[in-house]
Amino acid sequence: MPQTTLWAPPAPVTAPVRGLAERAAVNRIFCVGRNYAAHAAEMGHAAVEKSAGDRPFYFTKSARALVQSGAAIPYPPETKNFHHEMELVVAIGAPGFRVAPEQAHDLVYGYACGLDMTRRDLQLAARDKGRPWDLGKDFENAAVVSEIVPMPGVALERGVIKLAVNGEVRQKSDLSQLIWGVREIIADLSHFYHLAPGDLIFTGTPEGVGPVKPGDRLEGKIEGVGTIALTIGPAE
Ligand code: MN
Repeated sequence: MPQTTLWAPPAPVTAPVRGLAERAAVNRIFCVGRNYAAHAAEMGHAAVEKSAGDRPFYFTKSARALVQSGAAIPYPPETKNFHHEMELVVAIGAPGFRVAPEQAHDLVYGYACGLDMTRRDLQLAARDKGRPWDLGKDFENAAVVSEIVPMPGVALERGVIKLAVNGEVRQKSDLSQLIWGVREIIADLSHFYHLAPGDLIFTGTPEGVGPVKPGDRLEGKIEGVGTIALTIGPAE
C-alpha cells in the first residue's frame, strides 16, 4: 500500500535553468559570511586572514526561503532594517566530500545571481548576544535566485558584481575580490557536508549593503552570469 501523508508534502523547490526546459531541483542553501574585505569592514569586523589559518564561515537558509528573480515580495515581518546583499551563487551539480581545491570545479554545475536578503536588525541583535542568525537570515523570500546558467566545471574568478536600487548603484565590486574563491569555498564546505546536486552556495556580498523599503526595485548584475530583479512590496 502506498504511503500516505496527513497533508500534502511541500512542492519541490526548483529554479529555472537558462536554455533548458528542465528546472534545477534545489537541495540545500549554504551562505558564506564576510567574504569581501570591504564588507567585513563595514560590518565592523576584520577580514578573515588566510595567513592566520582562518577558514570561511557559513550559515544556511532553508530551501523554502527561495524566491525567483522578478518576484515582488512583501516587506518582511519583525524588522525595521531589511537589507540587500548581492551575491554570486554557485549551483552544485555533482556529489563531493572532502574535495581538494584543485578538483573543486568538478562539482560546479553553473552559477546564478543571488540576493541574500537580511533582517539586519535581527541578525545584529543575535550576533551581539551570541545567538544564532536564523531569524535574521532564514525566513520567507530571503533567498532570491536568478536562472541558473550552466557552466559545468568552471570556477569563476572575476567579473563585475553590482546592485542598483531604483537605478542608483549601491554595491559594486568584482568577483576577484572574494577572500575565499569558488574553489576554496567548495573544497572547505565539502569537509563539513556531503555536497550534492542542487545545493546552492551564496558566496558572500561585497560592500555597500543597505536598507530597502516598500516600493523599491532592486536590479543586480554579474558580468558573465546574468541579472536579477526584485521588488519590495508593502508589509503584510
Ligand atoms: Mn550574504
